[in-house]
Amino acid sequence: MSTEKSTVEQLEESFRDRMPSVTKDGKRNWIYAWQPKGKWYTRRTVLSVLYVVLFFALPFIKINGNPALQINVVEGKFSIFGMIFWPQDFFIFGVGMVTMVIFIYLFTMIYGRVFCGWACPQTIFMEMIFRRIEWLIEGNPNEQRKLKSSPWNANKTIRFGLKHFVFFAFSFLIANTFLAYIIGVEEVFKIVKEPISQHVGGFIAIIVFTYAFYGVYAFAREIICTVICPYGRLQSVLLDRNSMIVAYDYNRGEPRGKGRRTEENKLGDCIDCKQCVVVCPTGIDIRNGTQLECINCTACIDACDHVMDKVGSPRGLIRYASEAQLADNQPFRFTGRMKFYSAVLVLLLAGLTTLLLTRNDVDVTLLRARGQLFQEVGKDSLSNLYHLNMVNKTVKDIDVQLKVEELPGVIKLVGGHQLHTPAEGQAESTFFLVLPKSAIKRRDTDVKIGVYKDGKRIRTVKTSFLGYTE
Ligand code: SF4
Ligand code: SF4
Repeated sequence: MSTEKSTVEQLEESFRDRMPSVTKDGKRNWIYAWQPKGKWYTRRTVLSVLYVVLFFALPFIKINGNPALQINVVEGKFSIFGMIFWPQDFFIFGVGMVTMVIFIYLFTMIYGRVFCGWACPQTIFMEMIFRRIEWLIEGNPNEQRKLKSSPWNANKTIRFGLKHFVFFAFSFLIANTFLAYIIGVEEVFKIVKEPISQHVGGFIAIIVFTYAFYGVYAFAREIICTVICPYGRLQSVLLDRNSMIVAYDYNRGEPRGKGRRTEENKLGDCIDCKQCVVVCPTGIDIRNGTQLECINCTACIDACDHVMDKVGSPRGLIRYASEAQLADNQPFRFTGRMKFYSAVLVLLLAGLTTLLLTRNDVDVTLLRARGQLFQEVGKDSLSNLYHLNMVNKTVKDIDVQLKVEELPGVIKLVGGHQLHTPAEGQAESTFFLVLPKSAIKRRDTDVKIGVYKDGKRIRTVKTSFLGYTE
């Protein structure tokens, strides 16, 4: 017989005094969650299948020859929807990050922690893959408890061994995919196929990521959501009375109690069966009110709806609702704070769209050579020396020509008349700009240089020309 206390027993000791994942004497309290059944769990399962397929497929998907999504922090190169972003695009990236933060802030303010339960990779992998593997190999929570407290024998060794082997294999798969989001799927295949000595860094990364994911899903589990995740810790400042959360309708449920409902005992709809607690993956009792540990996974809604069906009461004792709806019976309100952040978000999105649409495929930096003044060219012209740096953000090589705009000048590239820049690379060049003295009206003349590709101007850069007037 197991001597371990159940989650419910642990909670009853006092939910405010300690975390559900920690026992009274400071040890780990393992959460054995039951599998929920119901419409919300079915919806999450469908969404999770799509999500997992997308997670493993995305590194293979290319748009315009670029990865659909790649965050190459090693080289400072990002590919989002097939658009390549370089460190030179940090401004767009900065605006994108601020937009994302405002979006998360607004989304959380309205819908609570719904991202955690429905879209966070940690929850999806933990609840939809690893926990299902655990149920499959070790059985339901009662069987898991029994197995854990039983002496080591063949059955326990095989089940534990198999579970951890499968956990490790999935962690390895996730680690490889995760690495593909950083360095690209082709590089990951090279690490797998070629000798380790040629890819020591990549090989170490796979090992470290594999052990990290294995540690998270086999041991840390809900502690990631309840203690470590910074987004989770922010809930107390992001949520307000009008945020939609998974909530227990205390007006309808209390006073809770078992037994028949009569005129005398005045019991509410909660029959205190604790089915909402035993399915909770973070081990909390939602009837205690909004708690930081709730990841809005809706397992307790399904469990309670099932109980309500059985006892013949209306569903929705636990449901998506705001505190204002529960306390004052108000409908959902789009508050002033929500309106303000919505307006900020719209402005940021407009700015981001403009930046993306006006973004150039090439970046050109033009500087006049230091320490040089001007040279006489024949009797009637002067020349200045310039250095040009060009960044090609596309996946194709680019050949460009330079032309002086609006002035009768000539550009003489040192070593050819075309500037070649390799795909996703940079090129440097030096050239003389020759202007007739008649075009020079000041000591410092403003000059525009057009950058042409296939006869079409793709950029115009401004510089100055040093000379003298006669
Ligand atoms: S499942 Fe519903 S009825 Fe049962 S304890 Fe939870 S809130 Fe009460
Ligand atoms: S309280 Fe309900 S919604 Fe929140 S984590 Fe537990 S089961 Fe999920």
